[in-house]
Amino acid sequence: MSNRPVNHARAAEHFLEDAPHLKFHDERLWDMRQKRDAQMHMLPEWQELREEASRIKEHTLARLPEYLEQFEENAKKNGIHVHWARDGAEHNRIVGDILKAHDARSLIKSKSMVTEECDMRPYLAKRGVSVTETDLGERIQQLDDQLPSHIVVPAVHKLTSDVARIFAKDYHTDPNIRDPHLLAEAQRQAARPVILHADAGMTGGNFVVAETGTFVVCTNEGNADLSATVPNLHIATIGIERLVPRMADLGVFIRLLSRSALGSPITQYTTHFRGPQDGGEMHVVLVDNGRSTRLGMDDFWTSLKCIRCGACMNTCPVYRRSGGLSYGAVYSGPIGAIIDPTFNEHKYSTLPFASTLNGSCTNVCPVKIDIHEQLYKWRRVLVQHREMPFIKREIMHMAGKLMGQPKMYRAALRTTEASLESLPRFALYNWLNPWGKHRELPHPIKETFHDWYRKNRATPAATAPENKK
Ligand code: SF4
Repeated sequence: MSNRPVNHARAAEHFLEDAPHLKFHDERLWDMRQKRDAQMHMLPEWQELREEASRIKEHTLARLPEYLEQFEENAKKNGIHVHWARDGAEHNRIVGDILKAHDARSLIKSKSMVTEECDMRPYLAKRGVSVTETDLGERIQQLDDQLPSHIVVPAVHKLTSDVARIFAKDYHTDPNIRDPHLLAEAQRQAARPVILHADAGMTGGNFVVAETGTFVVCTNEGNADLSATVPNLHIATIGIERLVPRMADLGVFIRLLSRSALGSPITQYTTHFRGPQDGGEMHVVLVDNGRSTRLGMDDFWTSLKCIRCGACMNTCPVYRRSGGLSYGAVYSGPIGAIIDPTFNEHKYSTLPFASTLNGSCTNVCPVKIDIHEQLYKWRRVLVQHREMPFIKREIMHMAGKLMGQPKMYRAALRTTEASLESLPRFALYNWLNPWGKHRELPHPIKETFHDWYRKNRATPAATAPENKK
């Protein structure tokens, strides 16, 4: 896999050129944000729930080893096999070995971002296991050979015409179908036989309860329940940060999750898995894959509180207008921009800059992660680690120097304003000015605030020569 830094800006440009997709994406996500707001206003205790969720998560993360061991002990009592995976490779090997031990050649699975992190599908394909995604959006992305572009709605960047084209190729349906119900039915007809004959099923886990040794999966399509219960073998792949100490804590998160994600009061299916079904076998693979390292990062450990609701993505103006695939990573949007560099600082060095730092992500986050603060902190870290491109670094360095010299700064401002007024358009709008590709430069102002202040408000002392820098 290439280690070259993701060029988010260039990938976003492609997305911006496609007006129908851009409009749909922007409006669809903003609609989800508005529905989330409506749900929030229906719960007067919303802010208290956020506080409580944040407190529970921080408490759990502070005692993670203790709670993980408690979960393991209780899960084993429930008849669940518990495995530990240090990284993606170990996770894949564990899953591959479990399947091999059962001579399982086909696996149906519901959406799991952890398996995307581990790049599990290609690994299992090499071991002769066919993997079929059962979540509609995830299946569309699998057939189109793309990563999910959103953690909750993986194919949200696609129009019905795109889905019809993909299904026509793989399911031989009419490429002109534009009715989403017909497309969903086509997926249902294609998936059911695969589900009924699968050797094994896989799910993720939204929450893991230490005191009961159980876990909870929240979905809207019921596909996780089919994946877990139709085959006798159920494997659940879960990140170690998904733990909550007590069953009583769950209510806080269940009330926040779907409201924040889709603006609905609860997911259609909230299933508690307590152990294997009669005659079946259940395995839980607890995956670290860099989470322990992140837990040790003073500035970034609270990103582990994330419950993957996607609200920060829906509200982010950059994400809505650049599309999830432009981030070139498993996790996109504001949450992706703060956790992707923990996987690979060099490759994802551009992502913390794909933000206006407007703080909207932090405001909507149900577990109160200070996302925009972490984006800012990442920028500082990346500059210190010389991960910012040379030219940009030098320009920032010069701009910093200029802004540190008020006299020079004002002189430069006047020169710039004069240039904006007098230079021909081609001299201002060219490849040297990517900012101006989609925007007009601001009109020069006649009088700066500083000039106005000096003229109207400043005391003689403030305008004395020694104070005029
Ligand atoms: S960071 Fe917060 S808002 Fe974003 S996906 Fe995670 S929990 Fe949701």
